[in-house]
Amino acid sequence: MSKPLTGRVAVITGASSGIGEAAAEHLADLGARVVVLARRADRLTDLVARIEKDGGTALAIAADVTDVTAIRAAADRVATEFGGADLLFNNAGVMLPAPIDEVATDQWQQQIDLNVSGLMNVIGAFVPQLVSAAAERGVADLINTSSIGAQNPYPSFAVYCATKAYVTQLSKQMRADLGPKNVRVAAIEPGFTTTELQSHVTDAGISDWLEGAKTQLEWLTAADVAATVGFIAASPARVNFQQITIMPTGQP
Ligand code: NDP
Repeated sequence: MSKPLTGRVAVITGASSGIGEAAAEHLADLGARVVVLARRADRLTDLVARIEKDGGTALAIAADVTDVTAIRAAADRVATEFGGADLLFNNAGVMLPAPIDEVATDQWQQQIDLNVSGLMNVIGAFVPQLVSAAAERGVADLINTSSIGAQNPYPSFAVYCATKAYVTQLSKQMRADLGPKNVRVAAIEPGFTTTELQSHVTDAGISDWLEGAKTQLEWLTAADVAATVGFIAASPARVNFQQITIMPTGQP
C-alpha cells in the first residue's frame, strides 16, 4: 500500500540531531525520499544508514547553511540525484540567550547568521525547485522552524526571539507569493523540546533555568514536533497550515 508521502522528495536542514533528525526519520517512514543536511557528516551517515535499514531512501549532504555556495551546490545535487525537492523543512537553528546588556555581539551575530541568513540561503537555493515541483504535481511544501519565542517575550532571549519572529513573519509573507503557485508555506512554533539546542547555551544562569524547567514540566520530544511536520505535508493539497504553535501541555 502506498504511503502518504510516496513519490515526494524532502530536504531537511539541521538533520543531524533533535527535531530535524526526528523529522527525517518520520518523513522517510511516511514514504518520502529524504535529503538530510547539516555540518556533522558522521551523524548524517548514521542517520542515512538507519533510514535505509528501515527500507527508506536517504541522501546525506554535509554542508553549512551559512555558506551560500555550498547550499547552492547542495540544491544542484538534489536536482541531479533526486530530480529536485518538493518538501523543504528549513529547520537548522541556534539559540544563544544572554542578558541584552551584556552586549554579546558575537552571539547576536551567530544567531542572525544562522536563523535568518542561513534560512534565506536555503530558501534561495530550493524555492525554484519547490515552484517547479508544484507546477508539475500540484503541491509542494516549505516548512520553516520558528519558535514560541516569536510570540512571547522571554528575558535574555531577545535576539533569538527576534530571529524567530522574522521566520514567522517571513513565512506569512511568502505565502502571498507562493500560495498561488501551489507551494504551501508553514511556520511551526514549538515550545520547550528536548534536543541539543540547550547544550550550546553559555550563560550559566540561563542554563540552570532551562535545566530547572525540565524538572518542572514534561517537555515535548523531537518526535512530537516531527509528527506535526508529517501532518502538514500529508494534508490534502488545498490545506495550508500557515502557522502551528506546539506547546508542552504544562508550559504557560
Ligand atoms: P539541535 O541543536 O538538536 O539541532 C540543530 C540542528 O541545526 C543540528 O542538526 C545542527 O547540526 C544544525 N546546524 C547548526 N548550525 C548549522 C549550520 N551552520 N549549517 C547547517 N546546519 C546547522 O536543536 P533543535 O532540534 O531543537 O533545533 C531545531 C530548530 O528548532 C531550531 O531552528 C531551533 O531554533 C528550533 N526550536 C527548538 C526548540 C527547542 O526547545 N528545542 C523550541 C523552538 C524552536 P550540525 O551541528 O551538525 O550542523
